[in-house]
Amino acid sequence: MDYISTRGSAPALDFAGVTLAGLASDGGLYVPREWPRFSADDIAAMRGLTYVELAVKVMLPFVTPSLSEDELRGLCTAAYGRFAHEAVTPLKQFDQQHWLLELFHGPTLAFKDVALQLLGRLFEHFLSKSDAHLTIVGATSGDTGSAAIDAVAGRERVDIFMLHPNGRVSDVQRRQMTTVRAPNVHNIAIDGTFDDAQAMVKRMFNDAAMTDRFRITAVNSINWARLMAQVVYYFAAALQLGAPDRKVAFSVPTGNFGDVFAGYVAAQMGLPVEKLIVATNVNDILHRALSTGDYSAGTVTPTAAPSMDIQVSSNFERLLFDVGGRDGAAMAEQMRGFESTKAMQLTNAQREGAAALFTSVRCDGDEMNRAMAWANEHCGEVIDPHTAIGLHAARVAGIDPAVPVVTLATAHPAKFRDAVERATGQRPPLPARMGDLFERAESYVQLPGEYEAIAAFVESHATESR
Ligand SMILES: *Cc1c(COP(=O)(O)O)cnc(C)c1O
Repeated sequence: MDYISTRGSAPALDFAGVTLAGLASDGGLYVPREWPRFSADDIAAMRGLTYVELAVKVMLPFVTPSLSEDELRGLCTAAYGRFAHEAVTPLKQFDQQHWLLELFHGPTLAFKDVALQLLGRLFEHFLSKSDAHLTIVGATSGDTGSAAIDAVAGRERVDIFMLHPNGRVSDVQRRQMTTVRAPNVHNIAIDGTFDDAQAMVKRMFNDAAMTDRFRITAVNSINWARLMAQVVYYFAAALQLGAPDRKVAFSVPTGNFGDVFAGYVAAQMGLPVEKLIVATNVNDILHRALSTGDYSAGTVTPTAAPSMDIQVSSNFERLLFDVGGRDGAAMAEQMRGFESTKAMQLTNAQREGAAALFTSVRCDGDEMNRAMAWANEHCGEVIDPHTAIGLHAARVAGIDPAVPVVTLATAHPAKFRDAVERATGQRPPLPARMGDLFERAESYVQLPGEYEAIAAFVESHATESR
């Protein structure tokens, strides 16, 4: 498979190329040149496969020829061997119509492990072939940082520098990052907010003095390999509920539009999907865009579901490109407009194309709390605030009662135990495998919120590579 940029002017790359590049050089995002397609018979033949074998079937068309089938299988076996559940992403029942897909059995208790455990191994694999070295620089408000650190800790040819705002992430989230002891992991607590940290990371990507010496990359969901890994669990859930003979709907707690875009990819590959429900909190740019065509960023309101407190959803560009006729020049023009005014209107083709598969629901704090309480009281399930937003949306989206609706459970409730306790009276314990998190020693440096200090630290600890 080769990959093209949504903005039309970056060179096409193979899978190894897009994995290492992250963002395209024209500022766009890479998408496959065409969607691989499975027939109903192909999908029926996937029933009963283990998660790893299913992952190999679903991802092979995307990674060929950069990886052989055996190489892909080896990487998946190692990545998904880190999960605490044999099924990797087990499916549970709420009631006659509603189901819960638990994506949080990985090492850091959020769905981001499903993709990042594989991505860390892909980096190592491709870098060893080209004798290169990668410097990952990121800013985190919580889940991405811990999942990325766990995924690359101790791997060869990769260093990771993760900035978090000092004193502004939860104890569990900070300890999940700072108790990982590996020489290639560098935790930096900066004085300032998440936005300050993010601004410094962006500045480093544009700082030629740094990018000339170091091969700097990001690990957020602009990386195609992350989305690809997430396509697999849509197949896994639908197969259990009767695919390809029966359609399934999915409700997805959404921030950067990565997870739900993976559902769109599954549908393009032939999986019979009835609807994809985009569940947002009060930071509802995607709900406004999908319901009225108005994509305009406001200011971020902090909520109890912080991983969805996002105003600009990077991966939405991939959808707009695909449903808008795959016109890179037009997309570049539309995004230039958005970048200068922070607002744009979807075209009619984009609105109609999106409406065919997507619907959206905005969920406020009361509705989120009621969904947590409902799951606990009626099904004995303690769910996290992000998942609760998905469940609320699933129950009010008006899906035909004959169609099963799967809510994606994106985080373990123990990761957000204060909010869960407020809504349900239950304080979910950390899983046994994390039991000693509060006894482990922490390691991080504290730096002032000044770009020069951060850049000097990275310079003195990273490995040069062109
Ligand atoms: C990252 C995250 C989300 C949002 O996922 P996107 O792919 O950015 O839409 C939702 N819930 C949790 C718990 C997350 O960590």
